[in-house]
Amino acid sequence: MPPPVGTPERPLRVAIVGAGPSGFYTAAALLAAAGLEVSIDLFDRLPAPHGLVRYGVAPDHPKIKAVSRVFEKLALDPRLRFLGNVEVGRDLRHGDLRRHYDQVVYAVGGQSDRQLGVPGEDLPGSYSSTEFVAWYSSHPDFIDLEPSLDCAEAAVVGIGNVAMDVARILARDPDELAATDIADVALDALRGSRIRDVHVLARRGAVQAKCSPPELKELGEMAGVDVVVDPAELEIDEASAAELAEDRQAQKNLEILRAFADRGRTGRPRRIHLRFLVSPVEIVERDGRVGALRIERNRLEPTDGGAARAVGTGEFETLPVGMVVRAVGYRSLPLPDLPFDDRKCIIPNNRNRILDPQTGRPQPGEYVVGWVKRGPTGLIGSNKPDGVETAAAMLEDLPSLVPASDENAAPAALDRLLAGRGVRVVTFADWQRLDRLEAERGRPQGRPRVKLCRIAEMLAALEDVDRDVEAFARAEVTVEDPDDP
Ligand SMILES: Cc1cc2nc3c(=O)[nH]c(=O)nc-3n(C[C@H](O)[C@H](O)[C@H](O)COP(=O)(O)OP(=O)(O)OC[C@H]3O[C@@H](n4cnc5c(N)ncnc54)[C@H](O)[C@@H]3O)c2cc1C
Repeated sequence: MPPPVGTPERPLRVAIVGAGPSGFYTAAALLAAAGLEVSIDLFDRLPAPHGLVRYGVAPDHPKIKAVSRVFEKLALDPRLRFLGNVEVGRDLRHGDLRRHYDQVVYAVGGQSDRQLGVPGEDLPGSYSSTEFVAWYSSHPDFIDLEPSLDCAEAAVVGIGNVAMDVARILARDPDELAATDIADVALDALRGSRIRDVHVLARRGAVQAKCSPPELKELGEMAGVDVVVDPAELEIDEASAAELAEDRQAQKNLEILRAFADRGRTGRPRRIHLRFLVSPVEIVERDGRVGALRIERNRLEPTDGGAARAVGTGEFETLPVGMVVRAVGYRSLPLPDLPFDDRKCIIPNNRNRILDPQTGRPQPGEYVVGWVKRGPTGLIGSNKPDGVETAAAMLEDLPSLVPASDENAAPAALDRLLAGRGVRVVTFADWQRLDRLEAERGRPQGRPRVKLCRIAEMLAALEDVDRDVEAFARAEVTVEDPDDP
């Protein structure tokens, strides 16, 4: 009789795909499960772990990034291996994971963005927040974006927290950003930026604004920036008044917005204009790139579901912007050989289990967590209960588990597979070396770190360190002992 899975003789082998918050929190919940022997491989397509904590959270919010320390501590657990620079879908396929693991969790987040669906959206000078945020955060896929900031006015479409981040980065004095871990290319570009007016556009009213009050308030606390709000756009219709009465966040936001409107312009050199009840209808081309943004005024209409809907009034306005950032939501992308819900842009699932679209039944041993499970909403902390929930479903399914063969489940078998495919796996020890190197690069400039921006640069840095370590080891062996005759 083979030993049961989940015991010291045969630990439960789990693959978690994606080392962002949801992947880490799921790992934490599994590692904490009483009486379970588990061996987890946590994959990421990038050499660096932490997902959007590293590549999304704004550089001027360093305290929020401190959550990485929780993940770092977790990664020291010998039952967890980090395998960075391994992309599922490219280096490993769905079938490989099924063969080598008893259970697989997909925690791949949202890698793309939602479209506005207006003409001109693809013009040079029009960017998604996914691209723009990843650019200033040194994401290897977007570091060469080179957004042109050679215009006096820019628009940010959307009024969620990501829109707040983008507006802040565009309007903030670059000298303040110089103390952060923002990408050097972004810092240089922002130093040369001509942007003085940033228009943040909300489709619905102030009551429906999705941003959280501290993020909204922070706009008004930036040196050299006026926040401009037209009091007429804060007027509340009957349906919104009812919504407002029930919603503490909306009440706080409205209070902050009214204070901005009261303060008005104070002659500061840069301005953020918060606009409500307007929708972009066309990004207008000029000389082959964004030359202006046509917007339409909206009014709110109640819906059967209760949420107010924006409806165009036929009144238009043109903003003379040279750049547009669309911050209307992230979106997950399909993975090869896995089902995907094109409408909701998530992996279809029921109670954390991936559903086979043909049968509508769970695909045994396959789970989801985080943004790819529930869509791109929620804070870092929201992924903690989400990870606990997914881990609970995995544990609940253990009695009916169809395990991988003992031979394939051995970690060495997976290592051999990756080595045979020529994949340079970045281990947690490798990442710790990169982490130290980035911190060292930042120290002389008083910055928390200067990030390595390209995968090749990260791998080359690891080779350099390997060479130094080898040379040091050789020198130690050959050093002559002066007391030895
Ligand atoms: C711009 C922005 C700013 C934010 N700021 C804050 C904030 O200030 N405070 C806060 O609490 N929350 C913030 N959030 C929300 C928070 O970042 C998310 O809730 C959280 O990161 C979602 O976690 P996740 O694990 O689902 O996805 P992610 O963090 O996106 O992690 C997914 C991981 O999967 C990896 N991956 C993807 N595809 C593959 C593949 N094929 N193979 C292997 N690996 C793969 C990715 O490289 C990534 O590391 C912000 C979000 C954004 C977009």
